[in-house]
Amino acid sequence: MLTQVAEGVLVHQSEFCQSNAVVVHGGAGVLLIDPGVLGSEMASLADDLRELGQPVVAGFSTHPHWDHLLWHAQLGAAPRYGTARCAATAGNQLSDPRAKARIAEQFIPPDIAGRVPLDLLGLITGLPAETAQIPWDGPAVRIIEHQAHAPGHAALLIEERGVLVAGDMLSDVLIPMLDLNGAADPIEDYLAALRLLEGAAGDVEVLVPGHGSIGGAGQARARIEQDRAYLHGLRDAHVSSDPRVGPSAAYDWVPGVHARQLQRLAARSEGDGTPG
Ligand SMILES: [Zn+2]
Repeated sequence: MLTQVAEGVLVHQSEFCQSNAVVVHGGAGVLLIDPGVLGSEMASLADDLRELGQPVVAGFSTHPHWDHLLWHAQLGAAPRYGTARCAATAGNQLSDPRAKARIAEQFIPPDIAGRVPLDLLGLITGLPAETAQIPWDGPAVRIIEHQAHAPGHAALLIEERGVLVAGDMLSDVLIPMLDLNGAADPIEDYLAALRLLEGAAGDVEVLVPGHGSIGGAGQARARIEQDRAYLHGLRDAHVSSDPRVGPSAAYDWVPGVHARQLQRLAARSEGDGTPG
């Protein structure tokens, strides 16, 4: 079920929202980034890795949203990491005993409800702030932390393999989705994150977004440009010609997300008295 995208880097794409789980081969096993969504898919992934004689030796969640915080018992008990801010955010949410029920009700689509195992949701360890690389025995995986989309979001750069794992950014099917709850200036946070990724993307030959198609050489830059153009449109409240929200949108709910972002940004700027 795994597709190789670069030497020692493999991806499994879920039927749910084209979610990409990433496997990186190391010295004694694999690093598993954003393991997947459906229980059956994670169990098959665990089977495949067992057959390959490759135990999971470390996990990583790119950001504290439910679809990136899942795990399956068959994947084993390796340490699961995220940035300190990601882990703190996930821990806060899950300290509410009703959190999982609420996630199941509000966020998991009815067609996959019951197929998403929530028992091991969010059990991640925060890496101390300023940690530059994931601690594991394998190719260096650089942590690029920023505040776009969700608190403590990390993109991961596997430089020697030319791979950028972008988390929920740089998707060809989803628009930039802002963190409109916590951030003081969500558009600027997102633009700042794109600048960080642009600085890192120089030699990237393979782009793996959290959802959507894998990009080849040049795609990281192209998608950075596309996301930036979308954000400029959002900021200036002009109608976006972005294909991800147009008639050929891959998901029919994405135009609704776009409309809500426009509305909420307008409400915010009215609230603080800033014109426009
Ligand atoms: Zn996601």
